[in-house]
Amino acid sequence: MSDENTLPSDAGTVIIGAGIVGCNLAYQLTELGRDDVVVVDQGPMPTTGGSSSHAPGIMFQTAEPKELSKFANYSRQLYSELEGRDGRQAYNETGGIEVARSEERMAFLQRRVEHATAWGIPDPQLLTPEEVTDHLPLVDESQILGGYYSPTDGQVSGVIACDALAREAMDRGATFVPHTRSEDVEVVDGSVKAVVTERGTIDCDEVVVATNIWARQLGEKLGVHLPVTPVEHQYTMTEPLDELADSAVDITDHPLFEGYENVSGEKAKRLLVGPDRPILRDQDNAMYYRNHGDAYGIGSYNHEPIVPDPQDLGGNDPEGEQGSVHEFTDYHMENPTHPDRPHKAPRRASDELLPATADKDLEFKYNGMFAESPNGLPVMGPVQELDGLWTAAAIWVTHAGGAAKALAEWMENGVPRLPDGPIDLAHCDVNRFDDHEGSWDFARDIGGEEYRIVYNIMHPKWVWEGKQRDIRRTPMYHSHMEYDAELWASAGWEEPQWFESNADLVERYSDRIPDRNGWEGVYWSPIEGAEHLHVREHVGLHDMTAFNKMEVVGPEASEFVQHLCTNDMDLDVGQVRYTLMCNEEGGVRADITVTRTGDDRYLLLTTGREVGNNHVAWVREQAPEGAVVNDVTSSLAAMVCTGPDARNVLSKVADADLSDDAFPFFTSQQFYIKNVPVTALRVSYAGELGWELYTPSEYGERLWEHVLEAGEEYDIRPYGNGALDSLRIEKGFRLWGEDLHTEHNPFEAGLDFAVDLDTDFIGKDAVAAAANGDNISHEVACLTLDDPEAAILDDRPVLDPETDEAIGYVHSAEYGYSTGACVAYTYLPPSHADPGTDVEILYEGEKYAATVREEPLI
Ligand SMILES: Cc1cc2nc3c(=O)[nH]c(=O)nc-3n(C[C@H](O)[C@H](O)[C@H](O)COP(=O)(O)OP(=O)(O)OC[C@H]3O[C@@H](n4cnc5c(N)ncnc54)[C@H](O)[C@@H]3O)c2cc1C
Repeated sequence: MSDENTLPSDAGTVIIGAGIVGCNLAYQLTELGRDDVVVVDQGPMPTTGGSSSHAPGIMFQTAEPKELSKFANYSRQLYSELEGRDGRQAYNETGGIEVARSEERMAFLQRRVEHATAWGIPDPQLLTPEEVTDHLPLVDESQILGGYYSPTDGQVSGVIACDALAREAMDRGATFVPHTRSEDVEVVDGSVKAVVTERGTIDCDEVVVATNIWARQLGEKLGVHLPVTPVEHQYTMTEPLDELADSAVDITDHPLFEGYENVSGEKAKRLLVGPDRPILRDQDNAMYYRNHGDAYGIGSYNHEPIVPDPQDLGGNDPEGEQGSVHEFTDYHMENPTHPDRPHKAPRRASDELLPATADKDLEFKYNGMFAESPNGLPVMGPVQELDGLWTAAAIWVTHAGGAAKALAEWMENGVPRLPDGPIDLAHCDVNRFDDHEGSWDFARDIGGEEYRIVYNIMHPKWVWEGKQRDIRRTPMYHSHMEYDAELWASAGWEEPQWFESNADLVERYSDRIPDRNGWEGVYWSPIEGAEHLHVREHVGLHDMTAFNKMEVVGPEASEFVQHLCTNDMDLDVGQVRYTLMCNEEGGVRADITVTRTGDDRYLLLTTGREVGNNHVAWVREQAPEGAVVNDVTSSLAAMVCTGPDARNVLSKVADADLSDDAFPFFTSQQFYIKNVPVTALRVSYAGELGWELYTPSEYGERLWEHVLEAGEEYDIRPYGNGALDSLRIEKGFRLWGEDLHTEHNPFEAGLDFAVDLDTDFIGKDAVAAAANGDNISHEVACLTLDDPEAAILDDRPVLDPETDEAIGYVHSAEYGYSTGACVAYTYLPPSHADPGTDVEILYEGEKYAATVREEPLI
């Protein structure tokens, strides 16, 4: 890469950071036709000295989160097309093997196969120990029970890839400016105007913060939350091994070697060499490996989290210290310090697995740094507080190609997408965070915890334990404690999953609650089933304070609400309507319940669980001057009293007529429950007779008590999210984030009843096209498992039983205790979506027969 030393005075977009993320983004933006992109970096290029310069570049594509696998799959294809300066393909497609050293890990590897199949990673396989050593003869076969093999996994050098991407971007008009530290971003009236660097100012409309471990610092300066946490990570390379003598490579004549050596020293001669055999992971010991010619690279997460304070990070001074590398701590390699792996030091684990490395000197070793986010996923997208500010951080080399492609599409065309279609990035969106996540106290702890668990076997329903719990309490918290609630954290809220106080119900309903003994039985209680049945047949009370609630107020509120929503929103005061919000491409951004509470006032209710803040950011972004959007999530306590006896219960304490005539379905009224003022909506996500009750937070606890007291004679029970998820699924009510997201339009989602094409709304053209049968590649399908005793979890592939090919994946699955079968929602090609069609679901190594059913089931 030629150093461009003239600082441009203006640009369309300035990308701060020329690591793998910045370079990929410049590549993608210019590919989309932009020629006004400037990339600045404090270090030299392409070896800036950031994380990308220190990573060994292994790329395991399969991950449980769909986004990561999709990003990796795209990155692999992109890096395979890049040519390094030596004329070789940048990507080394060696294959990747994850070994199991325990039975639990073998089950995990089977899950790997299922996730890979669901996400479209080519040809995932399980290997016997012998097959592993056929690929990797240096592995001690006696140490392993088997392996997972992904033939297209491999390795890319961050530096070679950065160089190739930047060269192509420059050919298309981008400018790269090394040795230029950005110091600030100029903002006028809430919009980005310029980037201030140590060498002058670049006027621009858009800035992308691609500074990774340094991102938090700029965020703090600008007053926005960029909760990424630097973490130290150990990487070492052995002295040459006799066993690898045939793989020795001298790379010192590589065109990038000199620059690399200037920044990274002698280890560049190894980092630049690609592997000639499969990359290897031993997650039971939180270690990974790849060969660098005749040396073995050993990476270790097998140590206590080391979280430096971002304020103490240096810059990237090639002459001196590099901010992204700290001195190697031998102690962490030679001793067992990982909180979950107290018995074996990392070095001993590598000696066992790869005996050829035992007793060998570690010729190069360092604590590199990369960035973690609170949910382990990227932090990307438009920052809601400032127009023109974007971010792309906490992204690995593995995912950078796909993440940058999606981000570039988002920036240019308004919607993130990969070549095979739109990709929903709610869980990666920079706006997903709640205020407490901005604190260093939180980011430090959770960044460290993310590091700790990175190679652990995590259950999809697992929630943080210990650190950073009990942050947001609903007004009913103390009552929940009294009723012995099993509390799970979501967006900081402590939410009941079930109540141990309802254990007595289990016996009552036991004949309809099949036991669960496998993976699906972890983090599950039969009480969930008992609460479900009790609500269906009697009455229950559910704390829904954590639902996202917004108020839209002002003279343009009506017009604005219609602009947001796909349904006809011409409501009378007191009317309630279910509707969708779509993006410009007609993808479903959220399903919401809208209540007109006054002439110029609307209450918007939705759920997003841990990423619900995205909804607020989106609505605010669309709002005209004449409509104010207030996030009232915290200021309103919310609960729903539902079940056949709900009317009887509430009538005892409500000063309102709750009969069907006086209070019809989908209407709202304000009245008192004893002495507490409420706004009540005649709706219930459980699908039973019921009223959602909203009251200012300080009344919440009292209201809860009033309803419970009134319900005593009807044996009212509090119920948790476990029961709710199962209640809603068998009624066909969609769950945003699982059954509903931007990858599908309302017609694919089977929600055309919530669309009125006589109105105008965001995404209408695309939705109208879908109404005409265009853009319908998939249709929602409600499945039930044929075995009435079986239960499964989501994110597993749905197979065509004739061909065994994956035709979809399970978006959500819950046992339907009233239906008497496990219910799964998926999207299938129209050819397979008709009721009566037989399919199979691959789950925990078994194929479960399932049938497409008419919905709703009950
Ligand atoms: C030891 C180690 C091993 C790893 N192994 C792997 C692996 O095998 N596979 C994998 O996928 N990932 C791996 N990772 C993670 C991966 O390296 C990072 O996630 C990735 O490189 C981040 O890329 P980036 O572009 O966001 O950050 P960086 O490469 O750090 O780039 C950020 C850039 O921003 C610049 N910058 C910062 N502040 C400013 C400023 N104020 N002005 C101008 N420029 C600025 C920096 O100089 C830097 O060049 C590893 C990381 C480490 C440390």
